[in-house]
Amino acid sequence: MKKVAFFSLGWSLASPPEAQENEKVQVASLLREMGLENRYNPEKNWYPLQVRVGSEVFDMLIKIAQESDIVHLGRIEQVHSLEELEDAPLLVWSFTNQAIEDDYYTLHFKKGQAKGIAPYTRNCEVCRAPLEQVRDMWVDVRKMGRRDISMTYTFEAILSARLAQMLQESGLTGFTLRPVWDYRKPYQGEPRLFQLVVTNVLPPMASPPTEFERERHCEICGTGSRFIKHTHWWGRIQYYEETNVYYPNDVLEKTADFNRTAERFGDLPVSAPYVIISQRAYRWLREQNVKGWKAEPVYLVE
Ligand SMILES: [Zn+2]
Repeated sequence: MKKVAFFSLGWSLASPPEAQENEKVQVASLLREMGLENRYNPEKNWYPLQVRVGSEVFDMLIKIAQESDIVHLGRIEQVHSLEELEDAPLLVWSFTNQAIEDDYYTLHFKKGQAKGIAPYTRNCEVCRAPLEQVRDMWVDVRKMGRRDISMTYTFEAILSARLAQMLQESGLTGFTLRPVWDYRKPYQGEPRLFQLVVTNVLPPMASPPTEFERERHCEICGTGSRFIKHTHWWGRIQYYEETNVYYPNDVLEKTADFNRTAERFGDLPVSAPYVIISQRAYRWLREQNVKGWKAEPVYLVE
């Protein structure tokens, strides 16, 4: 695994003019030092840069960032090789687009539709956490285009009819499919989209070493939610880096091909479990050339 840091170089247009002139000179000289002088444009005050963590350029930039505001570290991302992904027995599965909006959003903002239609989930009246799905989702199915997968604003996984059928015939385990309807004519004809409902629930993650932050708990409905730890400090700089997910080794006795975590993530009203897939499901998705998702290894511990 390698790590890539996302820096930005630049100066604030809110600074006094003399300070801006000074910082402009420093940014130009820094770009020259990195052999990037052709990117400099006196009209442009912001330069994003991707740098490998541990490289000489990284060391130089992180040092300057400690002393000056012209270098800013936004986030660090792990980049996994194909071998690492193919070696992982389990992977965290996530989606890379949000083309389908949301049942609530669509019904609320498409004029005249929201009246008298109850939400598709029963929510806690206090924290608004979704507690139970009570009807099929209604969305603007046209937003899907030719995509096979999209998530909604509330992190539901929506599949094309093509992918839903392929999955049903695949022999993969741990899920059911639920129709998703066109909000303009729900429950009519054949559904064009399906919701992937992951049914196999894993035991809790191994924590430590999995680290969480921003844990929330509602005393009324008992729902808890959190984020995987992502806030870090490098000297005086705060930056974003997601940390890894760990399970005890014996989790493999309890896994299907699609699994959801016992933990919910995100703020309570949009909290949802993560989806964890098997190596078999990972390879199947790649072999079928399904696009619109990514996967990161889960780590197993004694
Ligand atoms: Zn609640």
